[in-house]
Amino acid sequence: MSSSAFDKVRTRIAPSPTGFLHLGTARTALYSWAYARHYGGEFVLRVEDTDVARSTQDSVEQIIAAMNWLGLSYDEGPIYQMQRLDRYQTVVEQLIAEGKAYRCYATPEELDAMREAQRARGEKTLYDRRWRPEPGKTLPAPPQGVKPVIRFANPVEGNVTWNDLVKGQITINNREIDDLIIARTDGVPTYNFAVVVDDWDMRISHVFRGDEHVNNTPWQINIFNALGAPLPSFGHLPIILGDDGLKLSKRRGAVSVMDYAANGYLPEAMLNYLARLGWSHGDDELFSAAQMVSWFDGSHLSKSPAQWDPAKLDWVNGHYVKHIDEARLAKLVVAHLAGRGIAVHVDQVQPKVGLFKDRCATTAALADWVSMYFAPVTPSADELAAHVTDAVRPALVALAERLSTLGQWNKSVIQQALKETLAAYSLKMPQLAVPVRVLVCGRTQTPSLDAVLEHFTQKKVVERLQAG
Ligand code: GLU
Repeated sequence: MSSSAFDKVRTRIAPSPTGFLHLGTARTALYSWAYARHYGGEFVLRVEDTDVARSTQDSVEQIIAAMNWLGLSYDEGPIYQMQRLDRYQTVVEQLIAEGKAYRCYATPEELDAMREAQRARGEKTLYDRRWRPEPGKTLPAPPQGVKPVIRFANPVEGNVTWNDLVKGQITINNREIDDLIIARTDGVPTYNFAVVVDDWDMRISHVFRGDEHVNNTPWQINIFNALGAPLPSFGHLPIILGDDGLKLSKRRGAVSVMDYAANGYLPEAMLNYLARLGWSHGDDELFSAAQMVSWFDGSHLSKSPAQWDPAKLDWVNGHYVKHIDEARLAKLVVAHLAGRGIAVHVDQVQPKVGLFKDRCATTAALADWVSMYFAPVTPSADELAAHVTDAVRPALVALAERLSTLGQWNKSVIQQALKETLAAYSLKMPQLAVPVRVLVCGRTQTPSLDAVLEHFTQKKVVERLQAG
């Protein structure tokens, strides 16, 4: 049966809660979400927590926090697989009763020996169906004290074919795949089985996931068929490579969505950037979530691996930093500053963000700029030696003096004081402006100096100049 067996589009994201939401899963979640939203369908969050030893509630919470941050709202869930064990058990029993699954008592040692012999014969290592009931075959008596696993009786002939939404038609011969374990000795289902029962019960019409699952799909399709369940459509998204061309991984840089949040990336930028990692809409590079939803109809999904490009992400993020509401920008900067032990109020920050935002890729970079107003600056010894020279020191002293006597404090009076000092000492603007920047701002380059100084108190500027 095709996806037309479904009355509406329902997609899901099915993370295993063994860590944070990583970028690959976030992209899968985004595509699944956008697809459901595009077709007016529903998006489900399912927690695949059958790996009990590695699954944690903390990880579930982190994953949910990251999805909320990205704005990927789900209509159902979180649904936990470990709360559905009875249901899997029921389906296992049903398959056994129908002769579509069976108990296998082979011990790990026996299976090792079997594989060893297959390797010695130069064969592919596949389970030899020794416990599969077959016409004319006498099975041994179940050994005492060995708990069986349950295996799915995979069809032995024919092909499994599906039209992958990303990769196109894929065909696998059933001879290539063996009788998969669907329940372990403790009764806990394996991934390939639980995922099918869940996708069936949750009426999932379209499955997007990473292409590491392509090889699992033939088994899953056979199980769907054995259950008489309608087959969803599958779309396997190509892997994301790091900028070094290797698979993106924790070992080489941040792969957690929330690390990006902490490092000053905006959710709309992240969403925009992730959207383009494997999908395109003409030449559009900058678009909103709403635009993506209106365009994301399942076409233009890329077959080739995507490459993580930090410079492009910075460009996208910089665009949003420039364009979002300054009150929101100020709040984010306040949070970064708080993280650095600098306690300030949004009202103190907001007037300053407009000065610097155009040159910042992230809100963390913006906080670097804004921090000069609230924390001491520490110009390097080299910068001091290069710019705050004996030749310019008298002019700096005079400028400090002139600024300290101003009755008002704004850009134009500051500009006037700078000009008068230049004239008195026969200097050109950079000869004075650079040392002023080093002393007051802790850096050699800033936006227009009068505008930058205006946002300090008169007292602070004078103090920093005098300290030089
Ligand atoms: N828990 C699986 C994973 O995180 C889900 C795969 C699927 O979507 O079927 O890779």
